[in-house]
Parts: sequence; structure tokens; C-alpha cells
Amino acid sequence: MKGTRDLLPNETIRWRQLETVIHDTMKAWSYGEIRTPVFEMTELFARSVGEESDIVSKQMYTFTDQSKNSLTLRPELTAPTMRAYIQHNLARDGALTKLYYMDTLFRQERPQAGRMRQFSQFGAEAIGSPHPEQDAEVISLICAILNKLGVINLEVVINSIGSAHSRDRYRDELVNFLTPLKNQLSETSQRRLDTNPLRILDTSDEGEQAILADAPDIMEFLDGEDLSHFEELQDHLTEFGIDFRRDKSLVRGLDYYTRTTFEITSPNVGAQSALCGGGRYDDLIAQLGGKPTPAVGFAAGIERILIAAGEHKETSLEGVSVYVVTVSDNTRSAAAKLADNLRQNGVTASFDTLRRSVKAQLREANRLSSSHAVFLGDDELNSGSVEVKELDSGLQSKVAIEEIISHFTID
Ligand code: AMP
Repeated sequence: MKGTRDLLPNETIRWRQLETVIHDTMKAWSYGEIRTPVFEMTELFARSVGEESDIVSKQMYTFTDQSKNSLTLRPELTAPTMRAYIQHNLARDGALTKLYYMDTLFRQERPQAGRMRQFSQFGAEAIGSPHPEQDAEVISLICAILNKLGVINLEVVINSIGSAHSRDRYRDELVNFLTPLKNQLSETSQRRLDTNPLRILDTSDEGEQAILADAPDIMEFLDGEDLSHFEELQDHLTEFGIDFRRDKSLVRGLDYYTRTTFEITSPNVGAQSALCGGGRYDDLIAQLGGKPTPAVGFAAGIERILIAAGEHKETSLEGVSVYVVTVSDNTRSAAAKLADNLRQNGVTASFDTLRRSVKAQLREANRLSSSHAVFLGDDELNSGSVEVKELDSGLQSKVAIEEIISHFTID
């Protein structure tokens, strides 16, 4: 189906490796995993992400259930995570709550490379600290994960959109600047001028970008506290050894951000270069009915990261070590038993269930990247020892059947 894909065994291996790196790194950074339902009340996203955002206005898979509730397949995971944080009173566990997720999302977008309708994200949310070192920790966490996954050529782009009152002043100034130029703007931007003017800064239209080059810079509207927050964040990033660039147009598409916004891009993914987006959302929890609590987080797209890491090439089924070759009809059940015995002892093993020739079995061993073949024929069965062949080097040795498990389990 459009915008969805099946992950076949040669890809799921890569996915599991990536998932392991993410779980291990999150654990090392003391983030606990949260899993929320695939659907939520539609209202949750409308209230948090914003009615005017692309996600809510045109990308949600929304349906009415038999009880006439309006439900939506989750298009992002910060709002569900905050809903759960409030609902389960996780604040009770301490002043700082660190959560992470790794799950599937749904957005009705125009599919292209790196843009799917069902896709996967992992993300982290640090809830409770208003301070810039927390923003820096979150940015360094995603950088650490991307580095471990072998994603190179990263660009970290940051900005601050200030707290609500600085942003209101800036919004007015931006509208004053753009109103006389309205006719030169696209239809979407003209509409946004009334509904959500900051989003115009996100435009990918080069003509509009040229107009916006002269637009007022939000930095000039930040108050003293916003400014020192942003400066301290930059100092921390420098201390962590993270290179970054400021982009004054980075406002991000979701309504809930305050102060810090950031994005990590990689040219390796082509047009859809954003691997990760995030920022601070100090007002969201209160907006959703919780006690006012500052928070900062990120979400990163797994499909794009795999493209950026150059891992979408075919990888063969790895880890299959021993192929037990049935040499004669008489040894069929002995071969099955030997393979089973190896597996029970934690050794990856295969045997032939298609009753193929020895040659065909060796071809299969090769396809599975087996490291060893064990030949089991009448002679071997009678003598009680089998022929073990290292498939790479061709080296062959005889091993007593009762020692075969220890041969593969003890180095
Ligand atoms: P967002 O939730 O829009 O801030 O997106 C965060 C990250 O999720 C992006 O940087 C992408 O890596 C990924 N992403 C967003 N939308 C899609 C999509 N439709 N298909 C694949 N990945 C996506």
C-alpha cells in the first residue's frame, strides 16, 4: 500500500541492531521506555500539535469508532507521552522524569524516499528541568546514538523561538514586515499570515526564502532570560564538543515549542534530509491539563537514519554458524538430531529438510553464510565422529560426535 512497506528478514536484522543500540544508549543515559496506544482521542493532537499545523490540518488518519468517538492513529509521540505522564502522575516519582519511546507513527503525506505514511520514530523526553544543560543533554544524546549507528556528515542546527510573550512580539513584527509583500507569497503562506505566521519561515520555496532573508530576526525579540538560556545552551554544546549552526528560520512545524528548537540533518538522505527534530515545550503539559512543568525532547526517524547510515543494502542472514550436511538417507534423522542439539546449546544451526544433494546443501550453507559444515554420513555414524569443515578456509577436521557441542561452544 502507498507509503507503507514490509520489512523482510534481511532488513529486520538491521532494525534489531539499531533498536539494541537505542535501548542500550537510553539505559546508559537513564531514560525509561514508555509504550502508548496506537490511537488516541483526536482532540489530544488538535490541542497540542495545533489545528493549523500540517500534521493536524491535513495528515492525520482520523476515524469515528462505533461509540462515535473521534480517534486518530498517532502522528507523533510527544503528546501521547505527555498525556501518559499526566494520567499516571509520573511527576510523583521525582523532580525529573526521563522517558523514551520507539514506535510506529502514521501521517498521510505524499510518499517519497524517506517519507512514508507509516514510519517509525524513537525519541526522548526530559520532563522537569527548565535549564539549558537539559537541552544540551538531549541534543548530545541523539548525537551519541547517531554516532554509534555510524551516521556521518551530521549537521546540528539550533534556534530559539523564545517564550510565549517574546514570540508574540516577534509575530506582530513579522506580520508587519510580510503584509506589504503578501502578493508575492504562495497561497499557503498568505493563509498562514493570518493563522500561524511563524510557519512561513519554514517555507521551502526559494522565492519566499529570498524575501525572508530580510525579515526581522527573532533573536532581537527575545527577552534577557530567553537570550541567556540560548547562550548557555550554546556554551554547553561547545563543551560537549558538538558542532552546530544557528538558523533563524528554524521554527519547526509543531505549535508546542518554546525557546530551543533544533534539527539534525544529513545530506546522505537526499531531499528529506532531516533525521531528527526537537526542542523545548515548557507550556505543553499545562496546556494538556497537567501541573506546569518544563520539558525538552526530540524525535528521530528510523527509516531515514537507516538510509543515512547506508545500511539499506542487502545484508545476508548472519549468525548461522553450522550447517549439518546429510550425506545419506540413513543419516537424515541423526543430522536433524545433531542440529537440534546444537541449537538447544545456543549454537546457530541448520539442516536440510528438502532432501537435497550434498552439493545443493553446501550451496545453501553458503547462502546462509554458515561458518562451518558438519558432514554426517554412514561412515561418520558408524565411527562416532564427524567431518567438520571451516567453510572460509576449507580446513577440515574430525570431531567425535559427543564432543561436537563443546567444539562449537568452547573456544
Ligand atoms: P517530526 O515529528 O515531524 O518533528 O519529525 C521528526 C523526524 O521523524 C524527522 O526528522 C524524520 O526523520 C522523521 N519523519 C517525519 N515524518 C516522516 C515521514 N513521513 N516518513 C519518514 N520519516 C519521517
